[in-house]
Amino acid sequence: MSDLEQKRPIKKVQLCHRKRNYRKEWEQDVRFKGWITSSNKGKNITADNSKAKCLACNIEMTAEVTVLKNHSNSAKHMSKTKSLPTQCSITDMFKKTDTTLEHQITIAEMKLTGCLA
Ligand SMILES: [Zn+2]
Repeated sequence: MSDLEQKRPIKKVQLCHRKRNYRKEWEQDVRFKGWITSSNKGKNITADNSKAKCLACNIEMTAEVTVLKNHSNSAKHMSKTKSLPTQCSITDMFKKTDTTLEHQITIAEMKLTGCLA
């Protein structure tokens, strides 16, 4: 090592790691949609918002895109999310899906029958 190198001050690498906050729009991002939520859901608003939660794995992680991307590519997460599309939420179970004219006529006839009885 030369004298010049010894006298040069060692540059300190300053890790400027800003604390990130969970973003609601990630829930609509195709990479995270369906499994991500805020770890504060249901908690008070002033709580720490720097964590995201994976609904499939039921774990919390730092709310950063890199962390979320790494998690979404992990083997554990992939195996857990395979089962997600077959599950439907309780609100989806009660959605009216049959809105054909024939079905509407049947409902109208049943209501009419109810009025006459
Ligand atoms: Zn996961």
